[in-house]
Order: sequence, then structure tokens, then C-alpha cells
Amino acid sequence: MRQKRAKTYKRVMALYVQTFNFRQPFQVLVSDDILVMPAAQQLDIVKLLSTCVQAEIKPMITQCCVEALYALGPSHQRTTNLAKTLERRRCNHRTALPSDECLADVIGTSNKHRYVLAAQSAELREKMDRIPGVPVIHFNGRGVAVLSPPGVATVREKVKGEEERRLGEKAAEEGMEDGANVIGAQAGSVAGPSGRGRKGANPNPLSMRKKKVPVAAEGPKAEGSKKKKRDRNEEEEEDAEEEEKGVEAANEGEEAGGASRKKKKRKRRGKGEVALAIEELNATGLGGVKPIAKGGDESGGEGQESD
Ligand SMILES: [Zn+2]
Repeated sequence: MRQKRAKTYKRVMALYVQTFNFRQPFQVLVSDDILVMPAAQQLDIVKLLSTCVQAEIKPMITQCCVEALYALGPSHQRTTNLAKTLERRRCNHRTALPSDECLADVIGTSNKHRYVLAAQSAELREKMDRIPGVPVIHFNGRGVAVLSPPGVATVREKVKGEEERRLGEKAAEEGMEDGANVIGAQAGSVAGPSGRGRKGANPNPLSMRKKKVPVAAEGPKAEGSKKKKRDRNEEEEEDAEEEEKGVEAANEGEEAGGASRKKKKRKRRGKGEVALAIEELNATGLGGVKPIAKGGDESGGEGQESD
């Protein structure tokens, strides 16, 4: 491969690495139609594809593409054998689909598995052009493996990614101070015609939050914190008061002679929980029953209990 072309291909693949997180070895989905090309037959197809993307590759072929080769019959035995040396990509198509459909399905709408496609079908290649992040290899008329330049959808994603990164850096640099919103707005108008750029400029929750802080700090910040403390104390007091009031209210609700019960309640509180429990036991008459467990002496319940 000529030096210039190698450099170009390396740069193209770098785009996929950067924007779409492609990682080496690149997974190359090999279509059956590229395997039947003379170039693929005569040369080591794996080495050829590897040279094309200027990196290590992991060639794969789908079940449907292998089926398509079988269907060509014994005259294509050599190609079929070649296909068998590649890793099989399970596509889960129960009845074999036409290769183009199978590959389009495996790649999907976002190429989430990050495949490089090696195929001859012009129709399929055109289709892939509309999906962001699908590098495509095919043999040109002279039997040379060609890596297509990135499609429109891919370039758009790349630009979007760069714009977002740039905005992020800018926000990190300047956003700390005032006017973070303004920076966002400026970048939005720069992004202009794409429309998507404007969307990218939106992540202003960051700057929104930052803007609010100084506004709050301008005024009575120190006083505010003091006030908060005071509020908390007041709240605590109020809570305590409310608790008591609540008890009172409940008592009053029960009967009109609440005043005496109120006193009783307060007294009880002072006694502590153990004393309260004993009192309650006695009140229900259970205190007298308890000694049974101790040996059947029913007479001196109260005295023994205090031990
Ligand atoms: Zn399939």
C-alpha cells in the first residue's frame, strides 16, 4: 500500500476509535460476496483487510453468509473453505436471510458492536453510509481493498462529539465565574446550522447551578447560615412543644377532665420506662401472675419482682 493511502486509512480509523470507541483488534464482518472476489482468493484476505485498516483485526462471518456460499455449490468449495477459517458470528436467523439483510441486521441502527464491514454489495454499502460509525471496506475495480471515506452520518457524529468536548472544556475553563450561561448561548449560535450542535450546547444544568450560587452568596450568606442554625434550634424546641401538645390534645380529646391526666402523664414520664412498665403490669393485674414462673408463690408478687 502506498504511504499516503496508508496514512489516510490510519486517520480514518482513528476517527472511529475516537468518536465511536472502536478498539483493536477491529472486528471485521466479512460478507460472502467479498470472499468470492479474485483478490480475496489469491491473497491472504485477513492480511489484506488488516493492511487496509492499518491494525490488527478479528475477521468474522455470519451464518447466513456461510449459507450463501454453500448455496453456490461445489464449484465454490475453495471460497467456502476460506470462509470456514473465519470466526463465526451467530446472527440467530433461523432461516438464512440474504447476506445483505443479515449483515444490515447484525450491524443494526447504531453498530453497537463496532464492526468494520467488508462487503461488495453497493446497495449495502450505501445503506451503511447512513448509519454513523460503520467503516466499510470493498475491492475496487482493480482488485484493491479500499476503505471508504467516512459517511455523512459518521462525520456528523464526529463534529457533534468535538463540539461537545470543546464546550465541556470551555465550560471547565471559564464557567467557574460569571456568565456560564452566556458562553453556552454563544457556542450554541456558533454550532448554528447543524441544529444538533444547538442541542449539544444545552447542557446548561451545570452553568445554571453555578449561576444560582453567586446570587445566593451575594446577599445575606453569613446571616443566612446563622438563620438556619437558629431555625433548627427553634424547630427542635417547637418539636418538643408539639409533642407535649399532641399528648395533651389526645388526652383532652378523650375526656373533658384532661387536666388531671395531663399531670399523671408528666409524672409517668419522669419515672422512666422500667417503672412505667411495672406500673402497667400492676394495673392490669399481671404483676400478681408473674411469680408463678418463679415457683408458684402467688402471695408476694410485688416484693419479689423488684429483685
Ligand atoms: Zn444471519
